[in-house]
Amino acid sequence: MKPLPPVIALILLFVAVMGFSLIHAARETNRADAARAKSAVTMAVNSEIAKIVTFADDNGIWDNAAEAVYGGMADQQFFWSAWGVGTAEGKNYDSVAVIDEQGETQLAFRFGRASRVSAASQMGASLKVLTAQVRTSNEAQGGIVQTPKGVAIVGISAILPTSPALNAIVPKERVYYLVLSKTVDEAMMARLSAGAKVGSLRFSAPLEGSDSIAISNPAGQPAVTLSWLTSRFGYSALGRALPIILFAVFVHIFFAIVLVLRAYESIKQLENEALVDSLSHLPNRRALRDELDKRLAHGERLALAMIDLDGFKAINDNFGHAVGDRLIKATAEVLADLVKDRGIVARLGGDEFAILLNGNHCVTRLEAMAQDILARLSQPFRIDERTVIVGASIGLVSASLHDYDTSEFMRRADVAMYAAKRAGKMRMYWYDELLDQRRAKAQTIEIELRASIEKEAFEVVYQPIVSASDKSVVGVEALLRWSSPTRGDVGPSEFIPVAEETGLIDRIGLIALRRVCTDAMVWPDVNVSINVSASQLRNPDFVGNVATVLSDTGFPANRLMLEITETYLLYDPETALGKVRALKSIGVGIALDDYGTGCASLGFLQRFMLDKLKIDSQMILDAYRTETGLVLLNGVITVARSLGMTICAEGIETEAQAELMRAAGCVQLQGWHYARPMRADEVTRQIVERREAA
Ligand code: C2E
Ligand code: MG
Ligand code: MG
Repeated sequence: MKPLPPVIALILLFVAVMGFSLIHAARETNRADAARAKSAVTMAVNSEIAKIVTFADDNGIWDNAAEAVYGGMADQQFFWSAWGVGTAEGKNYDSVAVIDEQGETQLAFRFGRASRVSAASQMGASLKVLTAQVRTSNEAQGGIVQTPKGVAIVGISAILPTSPALNAIVPKERVYYLVLSKTVDEAMMARLSAGAKVGSLRFSAPLEGSDSIAISNPAGQPAVTLSWLTSRFGYSALGRALPIILFAVFVHIFFAIVLVLRAYESIKQLENEALVDSLSHLPNRRALRDELDKRLAHGERLALAMIDLDGFKAINDNFGHAVGDRLIKATAEVLADLVKDRGIVARLGGDEFAILLNGNHCVTRLEAMAQDILARLSQPFRIDERTVIVGASIGLVSASLHDYDTSEFMRRADVAMYAAKRAGKMRMYWYDELLDQRRAKAQTIEIELRASIEKEAFEVVYQPIVSASDKSVVGVEALLRWSSPTRGDVGPSEFIPVAEETGLIDRIGLIALRRVCTDAMVWPDVNVSINVSASQLRNPDFVGNVATVLSDTGFPANRLMLEITETYLLYDPETALGKVRALKSIGVGIALDDYGTGCASLGFLQRFMLDKLKIDSQMILDAYRTETGLVLLNGVITVARSLGMTICAEGIETEAQAELMRAAGCVQLQGWHYARPMRADEVTRQIVERREAA
């Protein structure tokens, strides 16, 4: 999944939520501010009313005023100086009227002049209401009224003396009232506007974009509507904060995108790493499985090769992991180079690789490719100063239609590969159901071998080796025999490979060696050969174990010959050389077994200073049948003799073969023509017989 669409969706959602919240907050602020403005305007108006009420009170409750009013209202001089002058200034009030109980105006000043205009005509019903309120509350009252000259603030107070002594001058039921009023002018409007902190305050019906309050006159009739510009404080605050908010949002979005892309990159990288082998950079087992899952589900035609290096473990053990790793890399390169883009090369782990091909003729193409791989991998690799030879065992399997699943497909390739390994390595096998049976058999053999090791239930038989000149027995070769509880006698060529693969050969080999050294103690003049597998030799304890058995049994080392095969020497010549030297230093002899089945030249073998060469029966048959075989045999024997090796021909079945070998220069002969392998007591009996005959 691409990371950007969800991130963009998230960002848009975030911006939308953010925008909505900000607008909502601004609206709420606007609403709160509008409410505040309303009460502030009301309070400002009330404070103007309170001011004029205070003036009315101050001027009404006053001894001098009471004396002048109730004393016949003749002292015009007093009224002018007390109130008339004030209307001329117009600062606190611009009209003054003295009214009687009925609301009739008795005296009035307006804008600095004596006036005949009645207060009632100016204020209408409000005048009566206010007068009544003053009467009942005994306090000055005020309000806002609409007059013909405009909107005015009014304050009314009863005219009464402050001194109780003058109370008598006030006639009962005929109290006069002082009415002060001030027309709302621009200055007051400005004051109101400033006090309430609102703009463009004026008397008018509410307009678009304005807020307003309606104020009633004291009579309860709508008097005025005050309107002002709606502040939209929230919006303006938002407007001021917006650049910062936008900047912050932008920065956050930027970092969010960067972080998400980074995270996405690392997730991608982890995913890739999970599918790629870190050493070879090839797809790994999981990647191959994923690929097989997909392709098998589509019913594609597929062919899979499973390749396992032969002897890789030995190289790893002997040269160290660094060399092992380089070998794996080199192998990966070889495979990738051979396959190119025609298929998939994967490293399954350890020294296991796989090649997957698909499409028409994938079976034949894969088989040809496997041939090439075997040919290429049988060649030595140069790693630094070292030359290492590995080789490979290859298992092949094909699938078409919905045969089976990935696990079964890979298992079959594995079974075929395992079979190739068992069959002697450096070869390939196609999967066959018989292989499954063989593998099952190998597994039972392994289980039974383990049980036999516990009981040391192995037998050793001895095949005499005779002198080519007089047929006298010069030695015996120890051959292992094992009887399976379920299968009866099982030949060494069947159970030894299983023992080698499972590592059981180490313990079995030791059991055999101990038995041989014990048995042979009673055959004073007879040399004994015993077979040793390559995997036994690779065990670092091997030399020490041989020495221990020799000292435990007291068997003379110089009568013991170890038979080894060239495959061991070829895999890792350096280490093999050290091992051969170590063995020779404890006094045992080394024979090269089955010569002629492998590919090592005698020149190569020369450096090992081996004591004996055993020529394989196949080479003998070839020499017997063909001219070139004979030439080869003679050459081998000549070289081996010049190297000081004892030459032994094995598998001699006829006198003719014996004659041929004798003529070629073999000094020892071994085979059914002379004797079959026999039990130890039989060897003892024959030796005794011979002595008696002598
Ligand atoms: P090898 O070391 O080459 O042993 C010679 C094999 O040839 C023996 O088979 C022997 O019985 C057989 N043989 C002897 N004379 C003749 C003959 O005239 N004609 C024919 N056709 N065969 C003859 P065996 O006993 O079945 O052993 C097979 C292989 O098993 C041995 O080949 C050896 O590589 C391995 N082996 C036997 N015993 C041991 C052991 O104790 N340890 C190890 N590591 N390998 C062993
Ligand atoms: Mg042998
Ligand atoms: Mg042999």
